[in-house]
Amino acid sequence: MSETIPSYCRACEGFCGVQLKVQGGRITEIDGDPLNPFSAGHLCPVGQATIEEPHAEGRPLRPRKRVGTEWQEVEWDQAISEIGASMAKLRREHTRGIGLYAGPELAFDHRGAIRAAAWALGSGTPNLFSPLAMYGASRLRAVESIVGAAVPLTSDVGRAHYTVLIGSDQQEARWGPLQSGTIHTQAQDYFRKRRQGTKLIVDLLKSHSGVNPDRVIIDHVEEHTIQAVLDQGFWAGITLYPDSKSSPPRAVDMLEICGRERIWLNSACDWGISDPLAVPKTAIEMRHRGYSAEFVDQILFQNPVRFLSQCPKFSVPVT
Ligand code: SF4
Repeated sequence: MSETIPSYCRACEGFCGVQLKVQGGRITEIDGDPLNPFSAGHLCPVGQATIEEPHAEGRPLRPRKRVGTEWQEVEWDQAISEIGASMAKLRREHTRGIGLYAGPELAFDHRGAIRAAAWALGSGTPNLFSPLAMYGASRLRAVESIVGAAVPLTSDVGRAHYTVLIGSDQQEARWGPLQSGTIHTQAQDYFRKRRQGTKLIVDLLKSHSGVNPDRVIIDHVEEHTIQAVLDQGFWAGITLYPDSKSSPPRAVDMLEICGRERIWLNSACDWGISDPLAVPKTAIEMRHRGYSAEFVDQILFQNPVRFLSQCPKFSVPVT
């Protein structure tokens, strides 16, 4: 037997009223609630898609912790205390390296602005990003006066070292299909241009029959371009910066996803802020995550040796 339950949509801060048909403990239909005084029966495509949310296969219901290359379910208390400890450590060591991305709730909901301000104050970071539109300007000014720093109108998640998503990883939880649109279009533009540029280079090189991909390193790869480079047989160069492009933690993230073959790491030394010790710092990051000395050696030494040894003039001095 089915029953109809009035509720409201959580997919954005419109909180439109919905009527849910529930049968056997499962939601079978979702409709706009004509009795809701605010939305009067309106339900946008995102709201309609939320019917998939509660029963989505693989939807994480408990926190998961990365241990080496595996994910383990942990208790909420453990997750919260460990995240708190990590945030405290980050705050001590890299206060300005923490960025808080506050989603569109900042624009619609004054409670979102207060929550974001509380997080920013707690973490001590002045880096608060939001997709806030001009119609939320008054709240923006209020948040700025609380935080004591300018709040950029655009997010920069593509370059942030750490992004704290309060509540859930929306992509991972498979919420409504447009939920991931909270990543601002500026960041998406950045990703798109980087992908296009990499594809251009890869296609150009592949169109020349005389080019052996195994003898080519395409440098400055990032998370959204590395796989396209490796898939075509090229070497991927990860240039390490302390504050932009690939930081040591992001580089190790890429290794965890893409494996250890045909990847080369180097530290930047250019017009941006550079760190000549970025490579050893990446080795330390690998060891912190539990990777063996042999793994570190392959990435940082054996891989470059293998690549450079393709030149007959190259040899490693015997010590
Ligand atoms: S996602 Fe659509 S249906 Fe849901 S609250 Fe927002 S506007 Fe309303």
